[in-house]
Parts: sequence; structure tokens; C-alpha cells
Amino acid sequence: MKKQYAIIGLGRFGNSVALTLVNAGHEVLAIDADEDRVQRIADCVTHAVVADSTEENTLKSLGIRNFDIVIVAIGQNVQASVLTTLLLKELGVNYVVAKADNSLHGKMLEKVGADKVVFPERDMGQRIAHNLMSTNVIDYLEVAPDLGIIEVDVPQELLNVRLLDTNLRADYGITVLAIRRNGKMTLSPNPGERFLPDDKLILVGEGSGIQRFEEKYF
Ligand code: ADP
Repeated sequence: MKKQYAIIGLGRFGNSVALTLVNAGHEVLAIDADEDRVQRIADCVTHAVVADSTEENTLKSLGIRNFDIVIVAIGQNVQASVLTTLLLKELGVNYVVAKADNSLHGKMLEKVGADKVVFPERDMGQRIAHNLMSTNVIDYLEVAPDLGIIEVDVPQELLNVRLLDTNLRADYGITVLAIRRNGKMTLSPNPGERFLPDDKLILVGEGSGIQRFEEKYF
């Protein structure tokens, strides 16, 4: 279903979020205090306005509370980011996503009522670091504190082994969410499934378990 989004702050992150949502067919209002930034995106989004999001009346006059989701993509100016998030929640916005540059910033955003706090730089750093530590790691995503999803090439040692014989759960606390084979994804594979060459495994587990798994197999 088509949703209405407002993005406040048109830096690299805000721009990327706004354009992705537009490409997916959603309505996007883009807001920034900087006129150049607003002009640059104006042709690509539904509406674009120059406004200071720390002014309550400005937010009201934009009808901000009618948007399904508002994304606060102000990173460096922590004060503006926190104040904006607070005002949005006070004005009754249903769902506010706020970007944090560090954990203290994240805590403040949670305190003032952000429904979701995202850490794009930290997440991307983790993904790239996991990918660099082992060429067999295709992707890594932290889904909750100390809970990660990782995509890896099937380890050599597990070739032709049945899932139920791998002991991944007992030894590493790891569950196989899916197998990607010839571009096709099999969710919750059967315990009797054997791993084949070129399989990609999508695993979920605690960070420490995933780390031990990587050390053992790669
Ligand atoms: P990124 O790291 O994603 O590039 P930045 O923190 O550099 O993000 O960019 C944040 C954007 O938010 C800037 O374009 C800035 O003009 C905008 N911004 C900062 N404070 C406000 C505010 N009070 N109202 C509206 N936009 C703001």
C-alpha cells in the first residue's frame, strides 16, 4: 500500500532514503533547512520544502502529523535531531525513525520517544568489517543487540553433510534460516537437507556464536 513519508535532513542518508522510497512508489515530502539541498532533490520527490524542523509551528503547518512515517535524518547536529524527534512525537506523529551517529545520541533519541533508532554508519561498518575478515562472509546484519544475521558461502567441511548432522545449534547457537541455491531461496530448510557446493547459508545467532563459527570454518 502506498504510504506517506516525510524525510527531515537531506544529507547522504536522508537523500538515499528519500529516493529509495520514491522509487518504490511512495509519496515523499523532503525537508531541509538548506535551500540548495532542497532544490537538488525537488524534481525527484513528491514535495520538497525549505524549513527548520526545530520550529513547532513550521512542523504543524506542514501537516506533519498526517504522515505515516517521519524519518529524522539529521546526524551531526544532535540538538536539532533530538529536538525535532521530541516535537514530532508531541505533535502526534505515529511512527518516527531517527538516525543516530553514536550510542549516546541513540539513547537520547529513544528517551524523547523515537519509535525506531537506526545507526547506518555503525551497521555499514560492521557489515564491511565482517566481509573483510573473511572472504566467505557475504553479508552481516545486526538485528538486535548481540543478535546477527550472516550470509556465508557453505564451508568446505559441511559439503554433503545433512543440516541435522551439523550441530550448528548445539555448538554455536546458530540456526540456519535459509539456503540460497542457484539464486533460489529455501526458507527453513528441512533437517535432512544436504549442503551442496556453491550454496549460500543465511544464519542467525548471537554475535559470539557467529564469531566462533567463522573461526572454526573459515
Ligand atoms: P549525513 O551524515 O547523512 O550526510 P548530515 O548530518 O550531514 O547527514 O546532514 C543533515 C542534514 O540535515 C543537512 O542537510 C542539514 O541542513 C539538515 N538539518 C540540520 N538541522 C536541521 C533543521 N533544524 N531543520 C531542517 N534540516 C536540518
